[in-house]
Amino acid sequence: MMDRTAFIYSDAFLAYKFGEEHPFNPKRVELTVDLIRELGLLQQKHIFQPRPATLEELFRVHDPNFVHAVQKAGKLPPGQDGSDIGFGLGTEDTPIFPNMHEATSLVVGGTVVAADLVMSGKVNHALNLAGGLHHARRSEASGFCVYNDIGAAIAYIKDRYHARVLYIDTDAHHGDGVQWMFYDDPDVLTVSFHETGKYLYPGTGDIEERGTGRGYGYSLNIPLEPFTEDESWLTTFESIIPHLFHKFRPDVVISQNGCDAHHFDPLTHLSATTRIYRDIPKMVHQLAHEVCEGRWIAVGGGGYDIWRVVPRAWTMLWAELSEQTLPDEIPQTWIDKWQPQAPVTLPTSFLDPPDLFPPIPRRAEIEEKNRITVRRSLFGAPFLL
Ligand SMILES: [Zn+2]
Ligand SMILES: [Zn+2]
Repeated sequence: MMDRTAFIYSDAFLAYKFGEEHPFNPKRVELTVDLIRELGLLQQKHIFQPRPATLEELFRVHDPNFVHAVQKAGKLPPGQDGSDIGFGLGTEDTPIFPNMHEATSLVVGGTVVAADLVMSGKVNHALNLAGGLHHARRSEASGFCVYNDIGAAIAYIKDRYHARVLYIDTDAHHGDGVQWMFYDDPDVLTVSFHETGKYLYPGTGDIEERGTGRGYGYSLNIPLEPFTEDESWLTTFESIIPHLFHKFRPDVVISQNGCDAHHFDPLTHLSATTRIYRDIPKMVHQLAHEVCEGRWIAVGGGGYDIWRVVPRAWTMLWAELSEQTLPDEIPQTWIDKWQPQAPVTLPTSFLDPPDLFPPIPRRAEIEEKNRITVRRSLFGAPFLL
């Protein structure tokens, strides 16, 4: 089969927006798409339109009462703040915005379209950068996430294709919503690498969260120390992910590519550079071809340095998925176009310079703690032994 990659996109994705001051800003998707286009890496053959998720697709993973509350919240008359609606809606993190049901349904539908294209064999890989809403729960909006597009896509894949799914989450925050949705399911292996919940929202993602019932052992968590750098990140990833592919032998892999583990990210305390956003997708890509006939669905996620980090990280992700070569440098035309609006100096190359930040004082201790975390995490996954 020809290696084909789908880019799920519509400008209507930009309607998933909590407001000008909110950190989850769809402008980052716009900036990324513009950079990808500027590089000539997005052709008509790549682009597939999203469609709204159906209620049936939402109800596979969400309580109908919650969905109805989201519908109602999005249609509130002006002047009402909806703080009495509940279900995690109308909070500081996840405020109500007009037509929030429609906007989020389109994001969910985008990831379901991505899943369908890959599972039906029309393409090998598919990307929905607007997706990755991994915190949304069955009956609760949480952490900037209204509906869980990943959960809905996994449930769709199980229902329609009876396939086994490996879910890899490298967002700096724990992939809690997806984990809880499939916590008792041995056909969905979820693995999350994140900054330890001791210091960061949502506070979960401890090693001991391993699944329940028949799903015991099919939930893996690797809580990383604050200030973890590239070396330790990548060693940790490499010492776990190939095992999971070879032992679990999924039919398809879904990766969540939040890029908020970067040193510049204002919401987290990890110290990665863009190098990990080149190397992580590369590893996933190779293993997807080795183990699951190339079936790979990728989504976006967090990433709150929208000027310096997200466009570079996700352009590298797209280049990897679509098997196109990137130059080392960011096109000057893109920099000239956006610099006047940017509050920071835009970087000139995809990879960060080695002196991006001063040396981390406790580096050796952090690396050792992460090594111990990997050993403890793998030790409790029975099917790996
Ligand atoms: Zn490929
Ligand atoms: Zn995040």
